[in-house]
Amino acid sequence: MGGDAQGMVAMLGARIPVTDVIRTASSCKRLPSIPFFLSMESCPRRCVYCHQGEITGVSRTPSPRFVREALVLLREPREVCFFGGSFTCLHEERRKDYLDAVLTAPEGSLVRFSTHPQCITHAILDSLSPYPVSMIELGISSLDDGVLKICNRGYTSELALSAMASVLESGFQLGAQMMIGLPGQTEDSSVEDLRKIAALRGRRERSSVTLRIYPCLVLEKTPLAELMNRGAYSPLALEEGVRRAGRLLFEAERLGFPVQRIGLHETESLSRSVLAGPHHPALGEMARAVAFITWLLESSPYGPWEINRRQISLLRGHCKFGLRFMAERTGLPLSDIETRIRYAAL
Ligand code: SF4
Repeated sequence: MGGDAQGMVAMLGARIPVTDVIRTASSCKRLPSIPFFLSMESCPRRCVYCHQGEITGVSRTPSPRFVREALVLLREPREVCFFGGSFTCLHEERRKDYLDAVLTAPEGSLVRFSTHPQCITHAILDSLSPYPVSMIELGISSLDDGVLKICNRGYTSELALSAMASVLESGFQLGAQMMIGLPGQTEDSSVEDLRKIAALRGRRERSSVTLRIYPCLVLEKTPLAELMNRGAYSPLALEEGVRRAGRLLFEAERLGFPVQRIGLHETESLSRSVLAGPHHPALGEMARAVAFITWLLESSPYGPWEINRRQISLLRGHCKFGLRFMAERTGLPLSDIETRIRYAAL
């Protein structure tokens, strides 16, 4: 999956918030990001669920010149992000033009991009060495060969693991973009994927691999919509999507993976084109509640539970979603759950 980040909207005319303050894993400094969407640019093939134009609301690809002209106007360093396409699949010269444009940004700026595992070679990784690359994000989606085939990803899990290993061995930070609810994918296979990535990370720093977790949504004008209409694919219901994302987050945190994001950025274009699947602007927050409650119930199945006041919103937000989930998991009435919670001071 290439496209996640927010848009460079004023200039591109899209309707997405502009900045996203992130922690760069390599430098531990916080740099505001400036994302550019290269909508499905140079993707080796079309993945069945993808329609970047509908996800981001951005259909025009900014040229390297456009990027350069935007970056020379900056006064402070930024993390320049190329999302929504397969950056390392770009023709060598065009890729270099984009990267050279990044060098016109204020000193201290970094660059990150998302790309396809098929376009990771040692020669490509070597060509990145003159640039301040903060992270290479790989659309992994799944490490189950059957799922990859149905999704038309065009490679096997072996190739994806080898691409991830090459990124890490070349000393880059790796971002793995995973998905839930793909055709043919099970909840256990997603957890198994995480274990494989943890094994690959080995003894490296935990922060050397970060994750994004996206739900598989059925968008208009995609092959997945056709599969669904033929009855060959059943999308996850919202509740199931939240539960699976929460479980994956729980397992990811247990394995020590920083999780950068859960769920897609909401855009008008996205909400207009979603036909089915676990689509909710607060999917990430609800998944965090599920992961938190899983942890609470592991430490004490029926309470009492002591929680920090900062975590109240995980239980009470979205019409008491977390408390209702606890009631469902424990079989206790909601009123009873509330009496078993103690709130610790900040
Ligand atoms: S690699 Fe697939 S999911 Fe990623 S942007 Fe290209 S077509 Fe979309």
